[in-house]
Amino acid sequence: MAIAAETRPQEKDSSEAKAHEKRRWILDDFDIGKPLGRGKFGHVYLAREKRSNHIVALKVLFKSQLQQSLVQHQLRREVEIQSHLRHPNILRLYGYFYDQKRVYLILEYAAKGELYKELQKCKYFSERRAATYVASLAHALIYCHGKHVIHRDIKPENLLIGTQGELKIADFGWSVHTFNRRRTMCGTLDYLPPEMVESVEHDASVDIWSLGVLCYEFLYGVPPFEAKEHSDTYRRIVQVDLKFPPKPLVSSAAKDLISQMLVKESSQRLPLHKVLEHPWIVQNADPSGIYRS
Ligand code: ATP
Ligand code: MG
Repeated sequence: MAIAAETRPQEKDSSEAKAHEKRRWILDDFDIGKPLGRGKFGHVYLAREKRSNHIVALKVLFKSQLQQSLVQHQLRREVEIQSHLRHPNILRLYGYFYDQKRVYLILEYAAKGELYKELQKCKYFSERRAATYVASLAHALIYCHGKHVIHRDIKPENLLIGTQGELKIADFGWSVHTFNRRRTMCGTLDYLPPEMVESVEHDASVDIWSLGVLCYEFLYGVPPFEAKEHSDTYRRIVQVDLKFPPKPLVSSAAKDLISQMLVKESSQRLPLHKVLEHPWIVQNADPSGIYRS
């Protein structure tokens, strides 16, 4: 696995926190605790950093499996992007290290686990709970888009819940950084057609669509375009075949917001800052971003 060895610049900042971040980690820095879950390429463990006593989640990935699936590139992008994001609703990636066989990611520990499991347990969320999560997601995505990062894979499996009940976006495996493309575009902008000039904003609007799908799933317990066959789901998405079943009972304000996010023409989707101003969000979302049961 060819993750570039991070060349640590000479410490300039004397603050403890900074020094900590710039450290080169080894497995022996951690006490390993109970397994938290398993993913495609390895396992995640609760761990304690010995010096600071800081509790983290240590994700252990096997290089051989990463290589076989040709995802080293994706992992490197995930690490590069996630380690630079600082937002209360985005899972922190504190650092990484590796040995001969494995790559280790040091992640913020999300004590309340997977949102997916919560949704399975309750079947569907209350409007208060759904709106609180949607608002948290909108805040986090506005932050990402401001840094030219598009997540592209917002779904319940990629959302974790922190100690206080706050939502955390995890898993940046499919995210992209559009900054380089924008920069390279700058020189030749004069010759580009409108759809390419606008491509960055267009790309970011994929996350609005996903947020609409998620909002629906929170309230109804199933994603909106679900069908038995892949080809039917595909057709329903392309046609934006959006139906609101009579049960569970969902307010018309919520349906209005969903309808404004699930719009085929990407430029017509409700911008994220307007999502936050939508009456359904304003009336239902807990301003603290924390859902209290
Ligand atoms: P997949 O691609 O199959 O989703 P993955 O390699 O992305 O797998 P994760 O989903 O990140 O692996 O981790 C597997 C499981 O471990 C998660 O579903 C979750 O239950 C648990 N887990 C992962 N990270 C954390 C964390 N930071 N805090 C608490 N639990 C975690
Ligand atoms: Mg995952």
